[in-house]
Amino acid sequence: MLKIEDLRFSYSRRSAPVLNGVDLELRDGEIGILLGKNGSGKTTLFKNILGIGTPSGGTIRFDGEDLLKLPKRDRARRIAYVPQHIHFGALTVYDSILMGRVSYFGLRAGKEDYDVVDRIMAEMKLESFADRNAENLSGGEKQKIAIARALYKDAPFIILDEPTAALDPIAEAEIYSKFDEIAGNKTAIYISHRLSSCKFCDEIAVFHEGAVIQQGSHAELLADRGGKYYALWNAQAQYYTE
Ligand code: ADP
Repeated sequence: MLKIEDLRFSYSRRSAPVLNGVDLELRDGEIGILLGKNGSGKTTLFKNILGIGTPSGGTIRFDGEDLLKLPKRDRARRIAYVPQHIHFGALTVYDSILMGRVSYFGLRAGKEDYDVVDRIMAEMKLESFADRNAENLSGGEKQKIAIARALYKDAPFIILDEPTAALDPIAEAEIYSKFDEIAGNKTAIYISHRLSSCKFCDEIAVFHEGAVIQQGSHAELLADRGGKYYALWNAQAQYYTE
């Protein structure tokens, strides 16, 4: 279970706080999504979870442990991060995914590792790319590789920064359902600007000026007619209901 309580952060002592007491809760196996205008603090929250910058207050607990107090290496074992843009260097697609675990833990890959990578590649329909240079693939294909790599890392908590931005809506729907299936009991948070993504997520957290002003399922938030989500959804609904 992920439980963020009253998280506060400023980029410098003199600047205004960017996170003003963020509260967020996700149960094991749930997929959450952060929605909100540019500049509302979503990326800053991710940075805080990853240990980039020190919050001025609050806690980020995962399975009861305060991630902010864990040694870096222990924190790295618990979190897999999928960035918005990723560079794989000269690696093949296969090796790019394999790096998900080897690069963090310095393991030597064995048969078991290859079996898991093979399975994830098959499920994500990446098999035909195995020997290709990952860097030469399309943005959407690279995003799939980054997700496959995070799943292979097998951390209990995955955070993804606009992982489907380069995918068309059909590929996006496919990725979410595959992700949900392969991720099993892992907990995940996405940042996304697409309201259509909310339909695939268990919990939606609406960010506004450095705080979560609403959290709930799509149906719960839509029922709150005075809420921000209802207004956002109706402003964009024309694109999704056709
Ligand atoms: P979002 O991801 O929701 O678009 P961010 O977390 O990137 O929002 O930004 C939140 C606020 O923090 C913005 O006002 C932004 O200008 C500010 N900010 C982001 N990064 C830095 C930084 N490295 N130094 C100072 N201010 C920053």
